[in-house]
Amino acid sequence: MHTRLDMEPDPIAKQVAFYGERARGEAALIITGGFSPNEVGLIEPGAPMMDDAKAALELRPICDAVHAEGSLICAQILHAGRYAKVENCVGPSAIRAPINRFVPREMTSDEIWETIEQFATASSNAQAAGFDGVEIMGSEGYLINEFTINHTNKRDDEWGGSVENRHRLPVEIIKAVRAACGPEFMIIYRISAADLVDQGAPADEIAALAKKIEAAGADMLNTGIGWHEARVPTIAYPVPRAVWRQAPANIKAAVTIPVVASNRINTPEIAEGILADGDADLVSLARPMLADPHFALKARQGRADEINTCIACNQACLDYIFSQRAAGCLVNPKACRETEFSDTPTDAPKRIAVVGGGAAGMAAASEAAELGHSVTLFEAAQALGGQLNLASAAPGKDEFDETLRYFGTKMARHGVDVRLGTKAGADELVNDFDHVVIATGVTPRVPDIPGVEHAKVATYSEILSGARSAGDSVAIIGAGGIGFDVAEFLVTPKAETNDPAAFFDTWGVDPSFTSAGALKGDPLAPRPSIRKVTMMQRKSEKPGKGLGVSTGWILRNTLRKHGVDILAGVNYDQIDDAGLHYTLEGNQHVLAVDTIILCAGQESQDGLFEALQKSGVRVTMIGGAKEASELDALRAIDEGVRLAQTF
Ligand code: NAP
Ligand code: SF4
Repeated sequence: MHTRLDMEPDPIAKQVAFYGERARGEAALIITGGFSPNEVGLIEPGAPMMDDAKAALELRPICDAVHAEGSLICAQILHAGRYAKVENCVGPSAIRAPINRFVPREMTSDEIWETIEQFATASSNAQAAGFDGVEIMGSEGYLINEFTINHTNKRDDEWGGSVENRHRLPVEIIKAVRAACGPEFMIIYRISAADLVDQGAPADEIAALAKKIEAAGADMLNTGIGWHEARVPTIAYPVPRAVWRQAPANIKAAVTIPVVASNRINTPEIAEGILADGDADLVSLARPMLADPHFALKARQGRADEINTCIACNQACLDYIFSQRAAGCLVNPKACRETEFSDTPTDAPKRIAVVGGGAAGMAAASEAAELGHSVTLFEAAQALGGQLNLASAAPGKDEFDETLRYFGTKMARHGVDVRLGTKAGADELVNDFDHVVIATGVTPRVPDIPGVEHAKVATYSEILSGARSAGDSVAIIGAGGIGFDVAEFLVTPKAETNDPAAFFDTWGVDPSFTSAGALKGDPLAPRPSIRKVTMMQRKSEKPGKGLGVSTGWILRNTLRKHGVDILAGVNYDQIDDAGLHYTLEGNQHVLAVDTIILCAGQESQDGLFEALQKSGVRVTMIGGAKEASELDALRAIDEGVRLAQTF
């Protein structure tokens, strides 16, 4: 995956640390993010290229670091085509991608042949730099994929029209790379196993392409699912695990070279199921290797319960990349930041008290204990998790249960004394510990609206925890991240994110993956809703503005499909037996609803901090207790781990 580490200061050292750590964790084969074969194929200005032999040699330390750990490494060669965020981007036809503001220029036949040569040159440059092979990126809607289907290829020359012509570009590229790099160099072709766009390839065309790629000299087929412009979610948390496995299975039936499955494979059990059933010969993991670089090692040693599992949130990997930052990981703050952390155990162990067992507290406690400190964690509730327990109630977000399991296992392994149902007393904290961490979290804000104490009113915490249930008609006060999650929780059956058949039905996917683009319906077609829900916010700006770039569109579309109304610019007047009274554009309205749910942000629970500060004990506050606004698990875990590194 594109990490953007190559665009950071000190790029080689950072990549040596990043890839070296994953090789130490026994990833058998590492495939890098994309290197463009030329300027016009750049995924964004400044992205890495493999066009220059001398510059490519600078990558040798990365290959050496991976080889030193006994793993192999391939460079991905990616021409972004009409997805290239560069003004002079090109494509088979001059059709703008909905996710790019630049219109591509139609390539001439000479340019196409030149591009084929550039793929070959880039591959031999990678070979000279020490890479064991290349992966030619032919999926996800990038240049090669654009040539293979009519959706983007409207040409009537030898590169368009018939299937033979549309498949000519990938076949010629594989032949040219093989000729340039010799028989021993590994060539992987990443084939689009399901385009998920209009006029996409049907399964028989994909199988035919796979056969031609094998005959042209490729050693292995990796699979990609869905174009980046597809309106079907492919990797985010609403997508059930391993839901795409039939797509590589169709390809495997057509070829003799190994086929690799990918997308939403995040546990060894899921991976093993795919392999054992013969749906693929290998599995590839991208985000799960950000979440835990030692995934493979732990799986081999039977320590799957110690794996830090990717929860498919996209919050710190893709969303960081889309905001021009190096990829990170919500559950693992060290990902792509390996050089900022130390795993060396302390030579001066301290007695640490952590008050609060939510995401921030668990992250601090487990990290401190792993580094050799003596840690006691006090949690007032009978269970760990705090806000994570609420988050995991939202459809697809039950992946957070894995985060709870990971921290719980890590704390047990490193001997954290976890005291559930225990409120830490100030005296005990002052006398028995060297450093106290306050991670007491947040409580839902109860806004000052007349009638807010009415029986119809519930907090998001009461609804998500199951303490209260909502009626058939609901108003949600607050349209932030939690408001959206609560709305989704109220209108969608959980099966849509957990059960493959329900997921395919919801998003118009053909479960057999045989029809054109593997689509059988409109991904945005209306869905039945369990309840009538109206969301509201006071600001007049677009609701959901703060949602993640790579997941917000899914949430918005899900709510639209289920008929959720969202009102911006309202003023809340009062709540009574008639419902919620509000004013919009000067007009007064009453929303006659059964339940009104408060999703109006949070307030810090930080009472203990002041008392302790006066006592003289070293005390640090993290997570929601420190700052409630815009608190999420990403910030909480990052603060916890970083604090523990300073003890
Ligand atoms: P939030 O995103 O800050 O939203 C709070 C909402 O409450 C806003 O819509 C705000 O809109 C409203 N509000 C604030 N004060 C109010 C008041 N006194 N009276 C009435 N309404 C009020 O907070 P959140 O939804 O609680 O989420 C917490 C954090 O978790 C955020 O950082 C969020 O991004 C993150 N999160 C993200 C996701 C996701 O991306 N899917 C999911 C869950 C949580 P007005 O002020 O305009 O009324
Ligand atoms: Fe997975 Fe979220 Fe980490 Fe991305 S940020 S790797 S989706 S856990």
